Amino acid sequence: MSLQEITDRIAKAEATAGRAAGSVHLIAVSKVQPDQRVEAVLAQGHRCFGENRVQEAAGKWPGFKDRYPDVQLHLIGPLQTNKARQAMEHFDAIHSIDRPKLAKTLARLAQEIGACPELFVQVNTGEEEQKAGILPMDADGFIAECRALDLPVRGLMCLPPVDEEPALHFALLAKIAERNGLDGLSMGMSGDFETAIALGATHVRVGSAIFGERVKPGE
Ligand SMILES: *Cc1c(COP(=O)(O)O)cnc(C)c1O
Repeated sequence: MSLQEITDRIAKAEATAGRAAGSVHLIAVSKVQPDQRVEAVLAQGHRCFGENRVQEAAGKWPGFKDRYPDVQLHLIGPLQTNKARQAMEHFDAIHSIDRPKLAKTLARLAQEIGACPELFVQVNTGEEEQKAGILPMDADGFIAECRALDLPVRGLMCLPPVDEEPALHFALLAKIAERNGLDGLSMGMSGDFETAIALGATHVRVGSAIFGERVKPGE
């Protein structure tokens, strides 16, 4: 597949859902992809990318940003508090805010730096033990806590269990967002972004369908 095919499919899904053209942001997930594949997508004019590791992004993106200064980088993977400062330096948005300690650290750094990336609260909709994210029953309280810290919460993010119907998880995320007055929904990947758009996604995170299968192991 290609960038053009994915953007066409997004446009179609927006129209089918009766949503405005351009209301869904495509985050091209470039983790572990070779530089020439990333370069090819940049050359086609795409500027919004996602990485799941701070270290990897810090190594790979400054060079691209020299030539493409309008690149927007989204952190979509878990964030350790000791990497929070580095994450704030490299990313325009962070999709993995999921615990009070991290929220407090980001709030303190935002005060100090005078700016903060756009934030998405990650919700562990499948209540999976090994997965990051705040539990659904704790989400309202945590969102309120983030707001009390003056953090710029743009919306919610989820990563459904691999063996379950993603639509149920997207619908749950949309419901939690709605009752908290949030309209940003980061949900949908290569295999299910059209379903996510039908259920209100504003940010889809698509990797392999744009770049091809990831050549190196590692999530
Ligand atoms: C890798 C990753 C994606 C993209 O996955 P694809 O199936 O390649 O589209 C999306 N979201 C997160 C959090 C990821 O880690």
